[in-house]
Amino acid sequence: MLSKKNQVKIIAVLEHKNYKSFQDNFIAYPTDTKTVSSLVKLANKFNFNIATVGSGSTFNSSANFDNILYLSTAKLNNIIEIDMQNLFINVGTGMIWSNLFNDLNEKSMFFPLLHEKDCGRTLGGIFSTLKPFSSAATYFKGIEFVSPTGEIINYGCKTLKNVAGYDLSQFMLGSFGKFGIITSVLMKLFPTEKTFFTCDTIFDSCLSDTSSIESALLSRIKKNIDPSKVFV
Ligand SMILES: Cc1cc2nc3c(=O)[nH]c(=O)nc-3n(C[C@H](O)[C@H](O)[C@H](O)COP(=O)(O)OP(=O)(O)OC[C@H]3O[C@@H](n4cnc5c(N)ncnc54)[C@H](O)[C@@H]3O)c2cc1C
Repeated sequence: MLSKKNQVKIIAVLEHKNYKSFQDNFIAYPTDTKTVSSLVKLANKFNFNIATVGSGSTFNSSANFDNILYLSTAKLNNIIEIDMQNLFINVGTGMIWSNLFNDLNEKSMFFPLLHEKDCGRTLGGIFSTLKPFSSAATYFKGIEFVSPTGEIINYGCKTLKNVAGYDLSQFMLGSFGKFGIITSVLMKLFPTEKTFFTCDTIFDSCLSDTSSIESALLSRIKKNIDPSKVFV
């Protein structure tokens, strides 16, 4: 459970709204990236941890961990920009995938990742558990995320090929929220489904356990990027 003192500080950052206690867990629902950044800086200053939650389908609801703030992306669910000319869309990671997919369909646009009926999973949860070499991974072209120090980082642009420096989108993809909180994602769209011979489903494209993120290499990177282990 988070200490009462830290809960009071978090509630102040959230301006006394968009939070709830559930069992012994405390959940914050920030509505913008600046607030996410302030919460991460608070976690660094007052030594508590943050677990980012999309729809929570991979979380064990009975588990409760000490000193953790659950940060829900549910209110980071807006379409930031849709570029019909160049076929790109920039979306908040709290967006429910099936809603976005259907919305795009109505606009005769498509993204190559199929979902099961009534799939409540979020864009952020899918992106953060996506298999790096899945066919859909290629079409994520940019991200905005909050680093373990609370810095807001924007990476990527509306081009199919972007070789400027290390591809942070592909680095953060499939990282289970261990290196940062992803607040929005830039995706390449296509005129219709017919553009593709086959399309993978979320089930095929997402990792179904966390073994990949527990590798020696990624643990070493985690130690360097997030030495105080803010993100769990
Ligand atoms: C253990 C496990 C079991 C699965 N079982 C199934 C299954 O039976 N059927 C199926 O179709 N799919 C399954 N999947 C795949 C699952 O559908 C995808 O992982 C899905 O994308 C989860 O979406 P969510 O919104 O519920 O994410 P969540 O469960 O909320 O989060 C998944 C992970 O991503 C991180 N995360 C979420 N949002 C963000 C963000 N904005 N920034 C940074 N990190 C973030 C979380 O911290 C967590 O580590 C499973 C995955 C796992 C890991």
